[in-house]
Order: sequence, then structure tokens, then C-alpha cells
Amino acid sequence: MSDFNKFALNEQIVHSLQAMGFDKPTPIQEQTIPIILDHHDIIGCAQTGTGKTAAYLLPVIQHIVDSSPQHINTLIIAPTRELALQIDQQLEGFAYFTPVSSLAIYGGRDGASFEREKKALTKGADIIIATPGKFIQHLNLGYVDLSQLRHFILDEADRMLDMGFFEDIIRIANMLPKERQTLLFSATMPHKIRSMANKLLKDPKQINIALSKPAEGVFQAAFFTFNNQKVPLIEHLLMAKNITSAIIFCATKKSVKEIEQALKGIELIVRSIHSDLDQSEREKVLLSFRNKQTQVLVATDIVARGIDIEDIEMIINYDVPRDAEDYVHRVGRTARADSTGIAFTLINDDDRYKFRNIEKLVERTISKGQLPEHLGPGPDPNAPPKLSGNRRRPGGEYRGNRGGKSFKKRR
Ligand code: ADP
Ligand code: MG
Repeated sequence: MSDFNKFALNEQIVHSLQAMGFDKPTPIQEQTIPIILDHHDIIGCAQTGTGKTAAYLLPVIQHIVDSSPQHINTLIIAPTRELALQIDQQLEGFAYFTPVSSLAIYGGRDGASFEREKKALTKGADIIIATPGKFIQHLNLGYVDLSQLRHFILDEADRMLDMGFFEDIIRIANMLPKERQTLLFSATMPHKIRSMANKLLKDPKQINIALSKPAEGVFQAAFFTFNNQKVPLIEHLLMAKNITSAIIFCATKKSVKEIEQALKGIELIVRSIHSDLDQSEREKVLLSFRNKQTQVLVATDIVARGIDIEDIEMIINYDVPRDAEDYVHRVGRTARADSTGIAFTLINDDDRYKFRNIEKLVERTISKGQLPEHLGPGPDPNAPPKLSGNRRRPGGEYRGNRGGKSFKKRR
């Protein structure tokens, strides 16, 4: 008997959980499922990879099976297309043996899919998963009937606020029935999330699982490097460990493209994902990475949050993320749900200060590795961190201390 039986979930749902290999609930699922089944609003805060998607999907599917609605019953808002799609895929698994229907709505597709979305929104799929901008586009056209909506879910709420979706979310919420259940999930709880929650939720129960820290299974280390040592070091790290699935994160799409180019000579298949690719290209790249046809994915933070791909063995941070929280998200792509992984961060002189902040956030000193001998000596590990200022680098190139200009828009 599955541990999920204690929630008195419908038999068809338990059956699908067995088929998917979910034997026992994760801590956030353990705590939130009964509360959501009981129709309370909830704020769920837990680090990435802890199973927040099932924590809200399972009780919502149960409600829908119990009530057989005729119109849109549930609206899930997520920050990115990739995430919307991924939630929809998990949902298809959980709802496989039930009559619950769903559709993911996101931008960047052709006219035919717009028509399909319109049809689902008019006829009323049970669950709509959407990015904020695309959903508002449909709302503005007037055919979306939200009068019977019972669940409003905000996934990755912190990232949505970072991306500037606050107004859009409030606008959507204003179109919804007041009598509804609102669920907000986030990996972190900055002040602005609380104030949004005060606006949108009624007497919510709050579940906090852990501080923002990478999962236990991640081995973390860092290297002090000069910029011109970074690519050879990455090659070394990938080859030394016989890696078959790794992500290299960069702050800017410019560096993503450069690194993809620079790694062309290695024996692994390397591809990149960033905001210059259109939606179908991004999906193709993600799919081939998911299938392990692509072994190394070079990416901007667009994939750092929420994207759930199994068996990623290694994360390499080509640069130190600007926000300490982003480090946790990047590193959270490996060691999902109990497995193990490795996360390396390359620190140039300008990034030392940011790296200290990360160590403060995760409340530990991350061990510093020795550069392999063929790379020559790296920077002095004991040099004091610099606070600001542009400076000339050892390689001779000259850049701002954040390493690039497309920094504002973090997608
Ligand atoms: P989060 O949204 O908290 O970042 P996800 O919901 O994406 O995490 O879940 C992370 C991974 O863990 C997914 O691959 C998911 O299928 C898996 N998972 C979630 N809950 C369980 C469970 N109870 N048993 C086994 N695997 C689970
Ligand atoms: Mg999630």
C-alpha cells in the first residue's frame, strides 16, 4: 500500500502515483496536501526539487474529480513557457486515469495553437496552465469564462515578481470569483511575496519547509580562476568525471553563445538555450537534453528555475550568479528528489564578493578546489574581495564587473 493512501485520494490518482514511482510524499506534500484538500488557502515555501508541483496538483485533481466541473475550474500561473509545459506534463501523469483535462497556454507559437487555446478556454478545460502575458492576451479578447473558477495557483511566485509580473497577476486575480481557493508556491519568501499574498489570499496557512539551501545530495565546490582559464577548466571538469549530463550556467546570452562555440572541440554533444531561440527551438534543445542526446547544455537562468530534468550529474556556474538565491536555483537543477550531484562555481576576482554572499545564504563555506596543473597558477585565493568598479583583466579584455550588459532582464 502506498504512503499516499493516507490522504484518502481517489483510487485513480493513487494508481497513477504508483505508475510514476511516487511511493511516499515529500515533506511539503505531506504537509500541504491535507490542508488543500480541506479547501484552505496556502503559502507553500520550500526549496527547489522538493515536489511542490504534486503538492498542489494532487489535491486539486481530487477536487475536480469530486465535482465534475463544466467550466474552467483551475488556473495555474507560472513564470516561463518551459515551466508551464512541464507542469502540464506532470499533470498529465497524475490525471492519467481520471477524466480531468488540461491545457498549457504560453507565447511563441503559431496561429493554430492560438485557436486551440481559444477553444479550450471557451469550452472550459478543467485546468489551464499559463504564463501571465499570454493569459492576459486571451482575457482581453473576451471569451474566457472564469465564473466557475475554484482554484487559483501561483507557482514560482518569487520568480514571477522578479520578472515584473506583479501587475499582470493582480489584473488576472481581479477577474476571478472571490469565492475561490488560492495557493501560492515559492522557493523563497521575500517581503514583496508576503505583500502580494496579503492581497490575494484569504487567511492562508503557511508551510515553510526549509531555508534556501541546496539539497543535501549536492557536492559543492568552487575554483578561483582568471577568465581565460574558465573554458579549459570546464573542459577538464567535464572530461575528468566522465559526465553524461551537465548544465553550464552563464549570466548573459552572449557568454552562453561563446562557450557553446568554445566547447565545440570536446567529445560531448554541447548545445545552448537562451532567449534568442524561438519557442520550438528551445523545446527541441530541452527535449534532446532530457533524452540525453545532448550531454552538455549551456544556459542562461531561463532554465535555472523549475525545470525538472532527471539525472543531471553536474552543474557548472561559469560565473557567480548576481543573486545568492539564483545560486540555489541553479544548483537545485542537480540532485533532484534524493539523488546526488556535483556543483562547481568558477570565481574570477570580480565575483568574490558575490560568492561570499552565497556562502552566507547557504550558511557554509564552500570548499575551493585546486586548478589542474596544465592551466597554470590561478589568482591568489586570499586576495580580498572587490566591491565594485570596472577593471582590466589578466586576459586583456575589459568588462563591467557584472560581466555583461544583458543583465537586467533575467529570464
Ligand atoms: P519543485 O517544484 O519543488 O522544484 P518538483 O515538483 O518539480 O519540485 O519535483 C521535483 C522532482 O521530484 C520531479 O522529478 C518529481 O517528479 C519528483 N517528485 C516529486 N514528488 C515526489 C515523490 N513523492 N516521490 C518521488 N518523486 C517525486
Ligand atoms: Mg516547481
